[in-house]
Amino acid sequence: MCLAIPSRIISIDDLIATIDVYGARRQVSLMLLPEEPRIGDYVLVHAGFAIQKIEKERLESGEIMHEASIALSIIDIVQAKCMEEGCHSVDSIRLRIGRAAGILPEALVFAFDASKDTTVAKNAKLVIESVPVGGTCNSCKKEFEAPDNAQYVLSCPHCGSLSYEITRGREMEILDMETN
Ligand SMILES: [Zn+2]
Repeated sequence: MCLAIPSRIISIDDLIATIDVYGARRQVSLMLLPEEPRIGDYVLVHAGFAIQKIEKERLESGEIMHEASIALSIIDIVQAKCMEEGCHSVDSIRLRIGRAAGILPEALVFAFDASKDTTVAKNAKLVIESVPVGGTCNSCKKEFEAPDNAQYVLSCPHCGSLSYEITRGREMEILDMETN
Protein backbone atom coordinates (compact mmCIF):
# COMPACT_ATOMS: atom_id res chain seq x y z
CA MET A 1 0.00 0.00 0.00
CA CYS A 2 1.17 3.44 -0.82
CA LEU A 3 1.25 6.10 1.85
CA ALA A 4 0.13 9.30 0.28
CA ILE A 5 2.64 11.60 1.89
CA PRO A 6 4.42 14.01 -0.39
CA SER A 7 8.07 14.57 0.42
CA ARG A 8 10.30 17.16 -1.18
CA ILE A 9 13.79 16.14 -2.25
CA ILE A 10 16.29 18.58 -0.80
CA SER A 11 19.52 16.82 -1.76
CA ILE A 12 20.65 13.82 -3.74
CA ASP A 13 23.75 11.75 -3.18
CA ASP A 14 23.90 8.99 -5.75
CA LEU A 15 20.91 6.75 -4.94
CA ILE A 16 20.11 8.30 -1.58
CA ALA A 17 18.04 11.42 -1.27
CA THR A 18 17.39 13.58 1.74
CA ILE A 19 13.75 14.52 1.86
CA ASP A 20 11.74 17.03 3.77
CA VAL A 21 8.32 15.99 5.05
CA TYR A 22 6.77 19.07 6.57
CA GLY A 23 9.97 20.03 8.31
CA ALA A 24 11.21 16.54 9.23
CA ARG A 25 14.25 15.32 7.33
CA ARG A 26 14.72 11.73 6.33
CA GLN A 27 16.89 9.75 3.99
CA VAL A 28 15.30 7.55 1.41
CA SER A 29 16.53 5.28 -1.31
CA LEU A 30 15.89 6.29 -4.91
CA MET A 31 16.51 2.77 -6.20
CA LEU A 32 12.85 2.08 -6.96
CA LEU A 33 12.06 5.38 -8.59
CA PRO A 34 11.45 4.79 -12.30
CA GLU A 35 12.57 8.25 -13.38
CA GLU A 36 15.55 10.30 -12.42
CA PRO A 37 14.55 12.80 -9.73
CA ARG A 38 15.78 16.34 -9.35
CA ILE A 39 16.19 18.46 -6.27
CA GLY A 40 12.86 20.14 -5.53
CA ASP A 41 10.78 17.27 -6.90
CA TYR A 42 8.06 15.77 -4.75
CA VAL A 43 7.98 12.01 -4.32
CA LEU A 44 5.79 9.51 -2.52
CA VAL A 45 7.72 7.53 0.07
CA HIS A 46 6.98 4.08 1.34
CA ALA A 47 9.11 2.06 3.78
CA GLY A 48 12.23 4.08 3.12
CA PHE A 49 11.94 4.11 -0.65
CA ALA A 50 10.86 6.89 -2.94
CA ILE A 51 8.39 5.07 -5.15
CA GLN A 52 6.75 7.66 -7.33
CA LYS A 53 7.20 11.21 -8.47
CA ILE A 54 4.21 13.47 -7.83
CA GLU A 55 2.99 16.01 -10.32
CA LYS A 56 2.87 19.47 -8.85
CA GLU A 57 -0.73 19.89 -10.05
CA ARG A 58 -1.93 16.97 -7.95
CA LEU A 59 -0.21 18.41 -4.92
CA GLU A 60 -1.76 21.82 -5.42
CA SER A 61 -5.21 20.36 -5.98
CA GLY A 62 -5.06 19.01 -2.42
CA GLU A 63 -5.66 15.46 -3.58
CA ILE A 64 -2.50 14.17 -1.95
CA MET A 65 -2.22 16.47 1.02
CA HIS A 66 -5.31 15.05 2.70
CA GLU A 67 -3.85 13.06 5.61
CA ALA A 68 -0.93 15.48 5.92
CA SER A 69 -3.21 18.47 6.32
CA ILE A 70 -5.36 16.57 8.82
CA ALA A 71 -2.21 15.76 10.80
CA LEU A 72 -1.25 19.43 10.81
CA SER A 73 -4.67 20.52 12.01
CA ILE A 74 -4.60 17.91 14.79
CA ILE A 75 -1.28 19.38 15.90
CA ASP A 76 -2.73 22.92 15.75
CA ILE A 77 -5.72 21.94 17.88
CA VAL A 78 -3.53 20.09 20.38
CA GLN A 79 -1.08 23.00 20.65
CA ALA A 80 -3.91 25.44 21.28
CA LYS A 81 -5.49 23.19 23.90
CA CYS A 82 -2.12 22.61 25.57
CA MET A 83 -1.45 26.33 25.75
CA GLU A 84 -4.86 26.91 27.27
CA GLU A 85 -4.32 24.23 29.92
CA GLY A 86 -0.66 25.01 30.49
CA CYS A 87 0.69 21.53 29.81
CA HIS A 88 4.31 20.80 28.86
CA SER A 89 3.98 17.87 26.57
CA VAL A 90 1.45 15.52 25.09
CA ASP A 91 1.82 11.75 25.54
CA SER A 92 -1.01 10.51 23.43
CA ILE A 93 -3.93 11.73 21.40
CA ARG A 94 -7.01 9.58 20.95
CA LEU A 95 -8.88 9.91 17.70
CA ARG A 96 -12.07 8.37 16.45
CA ILE A 97 -12.11 7.82 12.72
CA GLY A 98 -14.93 6.27 10.75
CA ARG A 99 -14.02 3.71 8.12
CA ALA A 100 -15.95 5.73 5.56
CA ALA A 101 -14.24 9.01 6.49
CA GLY A 102 -11.84 8.68 3.60
CA ILE A 103 -8.80 8.80 5.87
CA LEU A 104 -6.07 6.18 5.82
CA PRO A 105 -5.04 5.71 9.48
CA GLU A 106 -1.53 4.55 8.49
CA ALA A 107 -1.01 7.61 6.33
CA LEU A 108 -2.30 9.85 9.08
CA VAL A 109 0.09 8.34 11.66
CA PHE A 110 2.96 8.69 9.18
CA ALA A 111 2.12 12.32 8.46
CA PHE A 112 1.64 13.07 12.15
CA ASP A 113 4.99 11.52 13.10
CA ALA A 114 6.66 13.47 10.31
CA SER A 115 5.14 16.76 11.42
CA LYS A 116 5.30 16.66 15.21
CA ASP A 117 9.05 17.13 15.86
CA THR A 118 9.18 20.79 16.76
CA THR A 119 5.79 20.92 18.46
CA VAL A 120 4.35 20.24 21.90
CA ALA A 121 3.20 16.90 20.44
CA LYS A 122 6.72 15.72 19.65
CA ASN A 123 6.48 12.70 21.98
CA ALA A 124 2.83 12.05 21.33
CA LYS A 125 1.41 8.86 19.98
CA LEU A 126 -1.78 8.78 17.95
CA VAL A 127 -4.25 6.20 19.21
CA ILE A 128 -6.87 5.61 16.57
CA GLU A 129 -10.24 4.10 17.31
CA SER A 130 -11.82 2.89 14.10
CA VAL A 131 -15.60 3.18 13.77
CA PRO A 132 -17.40 0.65 11.56
CA VAL A 133 -19.81 1.91 8.96
CA GLY A 134 -23.38 1.57 10.14
CA GLY A 135 -26.82 2.75 9.21
CA THR A 136 -30.56 2.34 9.28
CA CYS A 137 -32.59 0.73 6.53
CA ASN A 138 -35.45 2.78 5.10
CA SER A 139 -37.37 -0.34 4.10
CA CYS A 140 -37.20 -2.74 7.06
CA LYS A 141 -36.23 0.04 9.54
CA LYS A 142 -33.55 -2.18 11.10
CA GLU A 143 -30.11 -0.96 12.03
CA PHE A 144 -27.07 -2.57 10.49
CA GLU A 145 -23.30 -2.51 10.54
CA ALA A 146 -21.00 -3.07 7.58
CA PRO A 147 -19.01 -6.29 8.10
CA ASP A 148 -15.28 -6.29 8.88
CA ASN A 149 -13.38 -3.44 7.42
CA ALA A 150 -15.82 -2.44 4.72
CA GLN A 151 -15.74 1.24 3.86
CA TYR A 152 -19.18 1.22 2.31
CA VAL A 153 -22.52 -0.59 2.30
CA LEU A 154 -24.12 -1.82 -0.91
CA SER A 155 -27.51 -2.80 0.46
CA CYS A 156 -29.27 -3.50 3.72
CA PRO A 157 -27.86 -6.81 5.06
CA HIS A 158 -31.28 -7.70 6.52
CA CYS A 159 -33.61 -7.21 3.58
CA GLY A 160 -31.37 -6.23 0.66
CA SER A 161 -32.98 -2.82 0.21
CA LEU A 162 -30.92 -0.18 -1.56
CA SER A 163 -32.57 2.57 0.43
CA TYR A 164 -30.75 3.29 3.70
CA GLU A 165 -29.14 6.07 5.69
CA ILE A 166 -25.55 5.84 6.81
CA THR A 167 -25.48 7.03 10.42
CA ARG A 168 -21.96 6.07 11.51
CA GLY A 169 -18.55 5.66 10.00
CA ARG A 170 -17.88 9.12 8.57
CA GLU A 171 -16.65 10.76 11.75
CA MET A 172 -13.22 12.15 12.47
CA GLU A 173 -12.81 13.58 15.93
CA ILE A 174 -10.28 14.08 18.67
CA LEU A 175 -11.59 12.27 21.75
CA ASP A 176 -9.04 13.38 24.30
CA MET A 177 -5.35 13.62 24.99
CA GLU A 178 -2.99 12.68 27.76
CA THR A 179 -0.72 15.48 28.83
CA ASN A 180 1.71 16.33 31.55
ZN1 LIG B 1 -33.59 -3.54 5.37
